[in-house]
Amino acid sequence: MKFSILAESLNKMEKTAKRLELTQYLVELFEKTPQDVISRIVYLLQGKLRPDFEGIELGVAEKLAIRAISKSSGITTKRIEEAYRKSGDLGQAATKILEQKTQTTFLVENITVERVYETLFKIARLEGSRSQDMKMKYISSLLNDATPLEASYILKILLGTLRLGVAENTVMDALAIAYTGSKENRKPLEHAYNVSSDLGKVAETIASKGIKGVEEFEIILFNPIRPMLADRVKSEEEAIEKMGIEFAAEYKLDGERVQVHVEKEKVVLFSRSLENISEYYPDIIEKIPNAVLADQAILEAEAVAINENTGEFLPFQELMHRRRKYKIEKAVSQYPITVNFFDILYHNGKSCLEQEYKERRKLLEKIIKEDEFAKHVPMGIVKNQNEIQEFLENSINSGSEGLMLKMLDKPYQAGSRGNYWLKLKREYQNELGDSLDLVVIGAFFGKGRRTGRYGTLLLASYDEDTDTFTSICKVGTGFTDEYLDQLYQILSDKVTIKKNPRIDSEMEADVWFEPELVIEIVASEITLSPIHKAAKDAIRKDAGLALRFPKFTGKIRVEKFAEDASTNEEVIALYKGQKKVAHDKSLM
Ligand code: AMP
Repeated sequence: MKFSILAESLNKMEKTAKRLELTQYLVELFEKTPQDVISRIVYLLQGKLRPDFEGIELGVAEKLAIRAISKSSGITTKRIEEAYRKSGDLGQAATKILEQKTQTTFLVENITVERVYETLFKIARLEGSRSQDMKMKYISSLLNDATPLEASYILKILLGTLRLGVAENTVMDALAIAYTGSKENRKPLEHAYNVSSDLGKVAETIASKGIKGVEEFEIILFNPIRPMLADRVKSEEEAIEKMGIEFAAEYKLDGERVQVHVEKEKVVLFSRSLENISEYYPDIIEKIPNAVLADQAILEAEAVAINENTGEFLPFQELMHRRRKYKIEKAVSQYPITVNFFDILYHNGKSCLEQEYKERRKLLEKIIKEDEFAKHVPMGIVKNQNEIQEFLENSINSGSEGLMLKMLDKPYQAGSRGNYWLKLKREYQNELGDSLDLVVIGAFFGKGRRTGRYGTLLLASYDEDTDTFTSICKVGTGFTDEYLDQLYQILSDKVTIKKNPRIDSEMEADVWFEPELVIEIVASEITLSPIHKAAKDAIRKDAGLALRFPKFTGKIRVEKFAEDASTNEEVIALYKGQKKVAHDKSLM
């Protein structure tokens, strides 16, 4: 497949912010894509080479790319750097430079998607002392044969600056339309994606085996399953209203969610955001095979830091000491953990997702042999407010955050947040200022002590209906110098030239970011706002909701995707809840 077809599509997509148009361009692109190239096209569209969990990163530095452009154009690196500074985008700068050059030379080759992909793959795989030179050679050989437009997209993919704003949902819509003629057929695609976390593989399946093949898609051991999420409730009363007469209550432990894939002695661990995190937990890798009485299993657990002397659970932050590449053994002995299992998704070649919760729990208890390290998450069946309250007290006293309430007769819904699981934290009760997880979408430069860093961040909640990030507040408090530095560093990789089409904000930030980073915020109140876009029109026409006196809590939620941030529905519920509390208080 000619690479020019992809480059032209990318060019069109970059110029629009409208989801319908993006979908249409994708459909046109997929219709021109041969079956055996479709997975590569889908990965490249997302700026990747393989699904995230495989951890293959391109990681080419700007300096190297500039050297490669210089090599193939004959123009000095200094002039390229100047052009880059002017346009702010190396891809665009390269286009201009190469356009000048093509006026004097002939293009000899038609480059293909296959060739670009293979070359990028080789680049990603290169390691060692000579790797920089080799990388440069590969890049400049591609640029030599590319048209200026193609070169610009090759560079954007290489540098990780391709910002199309296409969400996975949009890609699935387009796949359904291109291969079945209707968006209505998206459901099986979603299911396949939820159990494999590999959109390229899903695309390849629909292209080669049709919708039937997608419907028969099965769980693959060592490919992560997208996790099931919980809605929140504010009180025992609300929980009973939503859950019915009898349901399970589990401790909500304050640790890191780990999806444990086991086959005999082989263990692989995935985080909630589906990264392979095995390297941080050598203790789990070593000890789990002894505790699992099955040939194959996919299990879900919460890894929690503990006080070794008392066995008490310690807060999430303690675990972050393990997020290091070196001297991990030391961290393992300094910050001991237990692994607390709460679900089973796959057992000896068969999916357990369709089984009811109570069946899965039974199987889990049979398969995990408890010891000092591997535990079952404490669980009880509850029927009324008193029983929930008692279990909640016990949970809080053990150092946990609250409860997870789960319907007994429901399946595991991979990749979705629904009413089958609810979370009840103690501080939600009768509180105005609940914590929210919000997406950093923009920033304003700081003054004084904060010069050269971001002084204030613009935050958004997630709108599930439109798949957009809606502005909800600016936040400038709660940041220590250390946090400011850390955030500046993390965010500098996410800067975009134009506002991502999935961002909905009337406020103009100094810098816009790819909506990716999630941070935790507390606030004193939620109010109606003429400027902010969260839950616009939901409470009053032409007004959105905004946080008053927001403050950063110090928690950067690395384990969360932007789509896991607090939703507008949650914001509306909190807004209504605070009204109710205020009303109840005034009656007292
Ligand atoms: P939150 O991050 O507040 O949305 O809460 C959901 C998280 O709670 C999950 O991703 C898990 O990491 C964690 N968790 C702790 N205990 C449990 C449990 N018993 N069942 C499910 N999730 C749990």
